Amino acid sequence: MDHFQYQNGELHAEGVALRDIADAVGTPFYCYSSETLENHYRVFADAVGGLDATVCYAVKANSNIAVITTLARLGAGADVVSAGEMKRALVAGVPASKIVFSGVGKTADELAVALKAGVMHINVESAPELEMLSEVAASLGLEANVSIRVNPDVDALTHEKITTGKSENKFGIDWADVPATYARAASLPGIRVAGIAVHIGSQILDLEPFRKAYGLVAELVATLRADGHAIEHLDLGGGLGIPYVGEQAPSPQEYGAMVQAIVGDLGCRVFFEPGRLIAGNAGVLVTRVIRVKEGATRSFVIVDAAMNDLLRPTLYEAHHDIVPVSEPEDDGEGQVMDVAWEVVGPICETGDTFGEPRALPATGAGDLLAIRTAGAYGAVMASAYNTRPLVPEVMVKDDAFFVIRDRISVDDMLARESVPDWLTDGGGARREASV
Ligand SMILES: *Cc1c(COP(=O)(O)O)cnc(C)c1O
Repeated sequence: MDHFQYQNGELHAEGVALRDIADAVGTPFYCYSSETLENHYRVFADAVGGLDATVCYAVKANSNIAVITTLARLGAGADVVSAGEMKRALVAGVPASKIVFSGVGKTADELAVALKAGVMHINVESAPELEMLSEVAASLGLEANVSIRVNPDVDALTHEKITTGKSENKFGIDWADVPATYARAASLPGIRVAGIAVHIGSQILDLEPFRKAYGLVAELVATLRADGHAIEHLDLGGGLGIPYVGEQAPSPQEYGAMVQAIVGDLGCRVFFEPGRLIAGNAGVLVTRVIRVKEGATRSFVIVDAAMNDLLRPTLYEAHHDIVPVSEPEDDGEGQVMDVAWEVVGPICETGDTFGEPRALPATGAGDLLAIRTAGAYGAVMASAYNTRPLVPEVMVKDDAFFVIRDRISVDDMLARESVPDWLTDGGGARREASV
């Protein structure tokens, strides 16, 4: 359920016409619905409410401070994967005591910053990271609350680029090494190990891989407790998938019941890290048609958004529904559609496409289109390729909208670059390339 619906022939975000936002901020832009974000958080939190649960929103899905603040006000914690994301979460009002720090490549500096901030726990992903964390914590006279992220070697049955729980993936400690890693952790200064973390991938549409992984984790709790370790909490990661093309996704309720059945009796506090589930359907990318082009074998709609703004189709062959902002005519037998159009961006890459050709109503220069389900892994993955500056992000609540990130200008981009003095014919280093 989301809040992007046609009203009076125009696609709205809650009570605001997307066309009005386009008139105000230009295109392309991302638009997020507060109500949808809040709804998704509440539905998920309710679904795991039978457990002693804390929902730590995976900030990497959409890290705009306004998005995190929206969720923080409902009580969400945060799962962060860099010191930058940690800063965002803190700025957004997530207490450090509800922040989990994950990721395979945390640096000594990042670990120190996290320890000083007092984050709730750090999910350690390798033996060398454990040693480093011990050194950093001991040198600061602090103790790190640690979960060991384990790799259960379970296939999440999702796209290979977002599978994280197979033994060949870079994430987590290999299953066979887990008991020895806990033993080592127990012996190290500055380390207090009290949990197990697991995250097997993203956009998972089948409960079976979760069931397998969590079942293994439950067995591990018994093994580690028998070895004398106090296992007080479990971090079960994120990964629950969402429909992009009307796929059947397990409901949060089904997921919650499954988790309850497997780990409910272990006496553990349980953390969840949903990202996509919260933010995915809460955002659209609005773009304007530049022109249409009839190719020899395909017809293209060339729009002003591109792969640098939304990378998912290019990176994952992901499908996003694309709908016109003006509601298509309905002739009584359904919406009147034109030929199949491939929607593409202006970037000089064949991969710069928003997916397979699909039926759209007759369209022409100036028309607005909305690329749906773009709230997660959209704006956060954007780049400035082709010197296309990052686009604005807008948040809607009821009848109001607010620009939560400005459009970055080309001048802003150029101002960060300098020409070395040996190229300026004695004119000194030149900061700005004036034209
Ligand atoms: C990416 C990630 C998540 C969020 O995954 P979603 O599929 O967006 O729910 C949670 N935990 C960790 C450790 C991650 O890397």
